[in-house]
Amino acid sequence: LKKPNVVVLGAGYGGLMTVTRLQKMIGVNEASITLVNKHDYHYESTWLHEAAAGTLHHERVRYAIADVIDQSKVKFIQDTVEKINLEEKQVLLQNHEPLTYDYLVVALGFESETFGIKGLKEYAFSIANVNAARQIREHIEYQFATYSTEEEKRDERLTIVVGGAGFTGIEFLGELVNRVPELCREYDVDPNKVRIICVEAAPTVLPGFDPELVEYAVNVLEKKGVEFKIGTAIKECTPEGIIVSKDDQVEEIKAGTVVWAAGVRGSRVIDESGFEAMRGRVKVDPFLRAPGHEDVFVVGDCALIINEETNRPYPPTAQIAMQQGEVCAKNLAVLIRGQGELQPFKPDLKGTVCSLGHDDAIGVVFGKKIWGAKASVMKKVIDNRALYLIGGPTLVAKKGKFKLL
Ligand code: FAD
Ligand code: NAD
Repeated sequence: LKKPNVVVLGAGYGGLMTVTRLQKMIGVNEASITLVNKHDYHYESTWLHEAAAGTLHHERVRYAIADVIDQSKVKFIQDTVEKINLEEKQVLLQNHEPLTYDYLVVALGFESETFGIKGLKEYAFSIANVNAARQIREHIEYQFATYSTEEEKRDERLTIVVGGAGFTGIEFLGELVNRVPELCREYDVDPNKVRIICVEAAPTVLPGFDPELVEYAVNVLEKKGVEFKIGTAIKECTPEGIIVSKDDQVEEIKAGTVVWAAGVRGSRVIDESGFEAMRGRVKVDPFLRAPGHEDVFVVGDCALIINEETNRPYPPTAQIAMQQGEVCAKNLAVLIRGQGELQPFKPDLKGTVCSLGHDDAIGVVFGKKIWGAKASVMKKVIDNRALYLIGGPTLVAKKGKFKLL
C-alpha cells in the first residue's frame, strides 16, 4: 500500500506542534512527512518585540528546526511556498520541484496588515519575523549613532513612533523604554531628546482588555517616558514621519523610526491559492479543515474560528496555534490509519499575559488578574512552556528564560 504524503507548510507554533506530535504518533512506514519552511530555524514570534528593541539577542529567539524534528520520519525542505494548487494537490515552491500531497497542513502564520495606508510599506517597520526585528534594532541604533555625529542635530531622529497599542505595540514599548536609556549611555545622547510616541486609533490602549490592568500598563509606560496619543489614527507614513488624525484634526509627527504594530493578517499564500478567506484567514470546519477540501488542514494565524459566545473570531495567538497543532496531528493520525474518529477543535484559553519589559507585566490567568513581578514571572513560565511543548526539557534548557526578574 502506498504511504500517504503529509506535507506541512510553515514551522511556526502551529506547524511545528503538528509535526512534533505526529512524529511521535506514527511509525516510519505509515506516512511520509515533509515539512517546508522559509528558514532552517523556528522563531518564537512571541519574543520578537524583544529582539526588535534589542533587549534580547535574536539568536535567543530562534532555534534550529533540525533540533526538534525526528529526521528518520520527517523530511525538511528549506524553501518559500509560492502557491498551493488545490486541484492538483500540489505545493509550488520557489526553488524546488512541486510537492504532491495526500494531506496538507497550512501553517504559514501571520504577516503585517497595513490596510492600504499610504507609505507604511515603504517607510514603516513591522515586527513580523527575525529579519524584520533585527532590522528595527539596527535602525534605531543607527539613528542614535548618527545623531551623535551630526553637526546640526535633528532631534526628530530620536523620535520613535509605535503605531497601535494592541498587545504587540504595548509589549514593544515595554522593551523600548528599558532599551532607550542604554542607547543614550552608549551614544552619549541626552535622554530628554528622545521621544517615544504611541498612536492608537481606538479610544483606549489595549482595547477590550481589563481597564484596571490597562491603567496599570499606561502608568508604567508613561512614567518611563511614553507619550500616548489615543483616539488618533495613523493616516499616512512618509520618509519624515507620520500623518495622524484625531477628531478631523490632522497633525504631522516627525520621527526617525516608525514601527507599525497595528494589524496582522494571515499569509498571502492563502489568497493566492484561491481559498475562501478573509485577510488570509480560512474559516475552518470543526476539524480544522478548509471548507470543500477535506484533505487540507489550516492551523494557527491562517485559520479563523468563531467564538460562539461573542460571535467574533478568536484572536490569532500562539496559544491557539499550538492547541490546533495538537488536534491537527491527532486528526492526521486518524486519517493516515483509517481508524478512529476525527476530533473537533475547542480552544482551551488559559488567559493572556502582556509583558511590560523584562520585570513587569499585566495579565488575566485562569480568570484572575495579575500584575507586576508575579505577572512577569508568569510570562516567562508561559514562554518556557511553549519551548517545552515542542522540544521538551532539552529545548527549555537550551533556550529557556531562567532569569525570572
Ligand atoms: P508563525 O509563528 O507566524 O509561523 C509561520 C512560519 O511559517 C514561520 O516559520 C515563517 O517563516 C514560515 N513561513 C511564512 N510564510 C512562508 C512561506 N511562504 N514559505 C515558507 N515558509 C513560510 N500570541 C500569544 O498567544 N501569546 C503571546 O504572548 C504573543 N506575543 C506576541 C508577540 C509579538 C511581538 C507578536 C508579533 C505576536 C505575538 N503573539 C502572541 C501572536 C503569535 O505570535 C501568533 O499568533 C503565532 O506566531 C501564530 O503561529 P503560527 O504557527 O500560525 O505562525
Ligand atoms: P491587534 O490587531 O490586536 O492590535 C492592533 C491595534 O492597532 C488595535 O488596538 C487597533 O485599534 C490599532 N490600530 C489599527 N489601525 C490603526 C491606525 N491606523 N492607527 C492607529 N492605531 C491603529 O494587533 P497586535 O497587537 O499585533 O496583535 C496581533 C495578535 O497577536 C492578537 O491576536 C494578539 O492577541 C496577539 N498577541 C498577543 C500577545 C500576548 O498575549 N502577550 C502579544 C502580542 C500579540
